[in-house]
Amino acid sequence: MKPFKNHLSSVAAVLVSLSVAFPLSAKSVDTQLSAKEQAIVAQLEQSLPRDLKHLEHIVNINSGTMNFAGVKDVGMYLKSEFDAIGFETKWLDGKSFNRAGHLVATYHANKANAKKVLLIGHLDTVFAPEDDFQRYRKINETQVAGPGVTDMKGGNIIILALAKALKAEGVLDNISLQVVMTGDEEKSGRPLSASKKALIDGAKWADVALGFEDGDGNVTTAVTARRGSIGWTLEVTAKSAHSSQIFREDIGAGAIYESARILNSFREQLGEEPNLTFNPGAIVAGTRTSFDNKASTGSAFGKSNVIAKTALVKGDIRAISAEQLAKTKQVMTAIVTDNLPHTQATIHFADGYPPLTPTQGNADLLEVYSKVSQDLGYGKVTAVDPRKAGAADISFTSGYVDMALDGLGLMGRGGHTKGEVAELDTFAQNSQKAALLIYRLSQQ
Ligand SMILES: [Zn+2]
Repeated sequence: MKPFKNHLSSVAAVLVSLSVAFPLSAKSVDTQLSAKEQAIVAQLEQSLPRDLKHLEHIVNINSGTMNFAGVKDVGMYLKSEFDAIGFETKWLDGKSFNRAGHLVATYHANKANAKKVLLIGHLDTVFAPEDDFQRYRKINETQVAGPGVTDMKGGNIIILALAKALKAEGVLDNISLQVVMTGDEEKSGRPLSASKKALIDGAKWADVALGFEDGDGNVTTAVTARRGSIGWTLEVTAKSAHSSQIFREDIGAGAIYESARILNSFREQLGEEPNLTFNPGAIVAGTRTSFDNKASTGSAFGKSNVIAKTALVKGDIRAISAEQLAKTKQVMTAIVTDNLPHTQATIHFADGYPPLTPTQGNADLLEVYSKVSQDLGYGKVTAVDPRKAGAADISFTSGYVDMALDGLGLMGRGGHTKGEVAELDTFAQNSQKAALLIYRLSQQ
């Protein structure tokens, strides 16, 4: 047996030296993928020119949030594409929340207890029809500019492309997908209970939520946590009198000192909390004040020789979890009610975007995704610092799904500006990564 063993080890040695001498990255990497996975990747490679045509088409339809006809046009175009591969589709009218509406497309697996995955996109952009940034424009072989090309029409087409590839390879027999593409991500319709209902219903149905926003624009990162964002209004009233009498036992400290006390205490008591920020963005105070919420503009009348009677402060809170937000509200409310003599204060917290809480499930999902990326030869994927990720639709799934991951879309830079540019090579990479992630989830 000895010679045989020696023979084997020498073959192994030759193989090792061959793989060192010829690091055929693409081919040797393919060995990390099963035959089915290679077939899915081949489908996506083949469909890429067609997918980019779809992208060009929908970027050239203006769908600024308040252009309801345009948002619906984009939705209808995608709806017919999902219809064509056997999804059950519906257009949910947005009249009740004063927006265009949402597209929902569902495909039910053929197997009991199949995993359910929610895929999240949005149809609207920040660019109104009057804007002078309207067209898809090729910059060179790998870059295109256009309104919403990365935020997030590219992500929508990635969802479509992977759905087609998975359908063609029979994967959708083993996993159920629901696509929700909202028409009001950039400017939410109100009440939120109506405008976010489709997303929340999808999240209640699903086990896993995947968001195809452009994240931080980096193809080697994904989003496992997003801070939520809510607004607050602080109102302070006090006893007015001649300035010479301030601090007298029966007069008190005035509204401006009281609002200064409150804001400084917020900073002292909460300023060190990790991943929490709270910002007073506007303040008006004096003898008489007014504030127009729509225009975010205020006015004040006051004199240096009169103790201020009223103060109003508008601010926000960005928190990483529902628990952190609740605790912050509690601390702020306690500070607000501990008033200086002869002053009163109230704080009102508005509705807003919830946080995408960084759960263990999200971290586990990122690990599976990162492994897929490495097996494809694209390297590790790491989590985006939540302070760099703004609020987004996927946050509404937090608490309903076991796992969530966002930032899986088309990457680039300059979102929300006329410099919005996509890196087209990330289309192929991220459509392959998400398709194989879903495939592997279907095998669990
Ligand atoms: Zn977006």
